[in-house]
Amino acid sequence: MNKLAAYAVTEANFRGRKVAEAAPQGRGEFQRDRDRIIHSGAFRRLEYKTQVFVNHEGDLFRTRLTHSIEVSQIARSIARRLNLNEDLAEAIALAHDLGHTPFGHAGQDALNACMKSYGGFEHNLQSLRVVDQLEERYAAFDGLNLCFETRAGILKHCSADNAAKLGELGERFLQNKRPSLEAQIANLADEIAYNNHDVDDGLRSGLITLDALRDVPLVAQHLQQIQQQYPNLPARRQIHETIRQMINTLVSDVIKTSEQNIRAAQLSSLAEVYDAPPMLAFSAAMFEQQRALKKFLHTNLYRHYKVMRMSSKAQRIITDLFEVFMDDARLLPPQFQVATDRARAVADYIAGMTDRYAIREHRRIFAVEEVPVSL
Ligand code: MG
Repeated sequence: MNKLAAYAVTEANFRGRKVAEAAPQGRGEFQRDRDRIIHSGAFRRLEYKTQVFVNHEGDLFRTRLTHSIEVSQIARSIARRLNLNEDLAEAIALAHDLGHTPFGHAGQDALNACMKSYGGFEHNLQSLRVVDQLEERYAAFDGLNLCFETRAGILKHCSADNAAKLGELGERFLQNKRPSLEAQIANLADEIAYNNHDVDDGLRSGLITLDALRDVPLVAQHLQQIQQQYPNLPARRQIHETIRQMINTLVSDVIKTSEQNIRAAQLSSLAEVYDAPPMLAFSAAMFEQQRALKKFLHTNLYRHYKVMRMSSKAQRIITDLFEVFMDDARLLPPQFQVATDRARAVADYIAGMTDRYAIREHRRIFAVEEVPVSL
């Protein structure tokens, strides 16, 4: 790693772990965090969780796992160029979606509605719960005992009520402070990754078309140039080339704009990062272009009737499961049969499910006809 900037998170200025541990040998503290995340059960379950398309709809669509890997690739590129802590940005990126329910946002919305009278459900907070409490892998502590800065980066947003319960970690939300630049990077990398891969997956699924995308300036300008330069290029390659170039344009824009912001703010320490306005940003022009793309995807892909049908089915599955477990805790696997806060235990159980596990669990409990599902 290059020498890090004075305002990067480093092992000299980091705030350590909840449970003190000996320093790792042969790797850094944030590399150890990344390694613990990759070896967690929650990380492996991301392979079978929906990003936009439900896992069984096709083998080439993004899942939460491939999404997280793409986010980490983009985050690392930006962190390295800005002389920030690449290992921390990578760890945050790989962990950022660990708390996601099955069935993407439809699942999260349904579980949040079920949990309305029990403190709500927020995937961000759940990601933190996974790394702080739910993973059971180590003898000496619950969770993964990650560094403060990794946990703070995972907790992207948080209500004041929840922040007040989180102690040290919640302070920045109550005091209106910023997260580290590495956390800001992971956040923007998430956006760059999903906007681009959703265009790719949307086109592959046939729910959106290249023709319709001509109204989106960010896509149109690259597509047009590629078609001029390579008039006979097959459509799939036009798409891949367009997306490749869009990612590059967005990443380059973020690096350039953020460098300017950091220079203008004359940052000289990590403490200043927390007090300063956000530094990681798109230029004003790119922000608009990116917003237009998001809007297009929202209208044409996320609200497409075929996606809505799957979302509606997902909502029913989550709601049915929640209600039946709240009604009769004896149906829960023993480790989720707790004496207090049944709702939270049910939410933990459901949130941890993969898409297909949730579908099968629903069938195991509700199907009245004989179905070939093993227990
Ligand atoms: Mg994400």
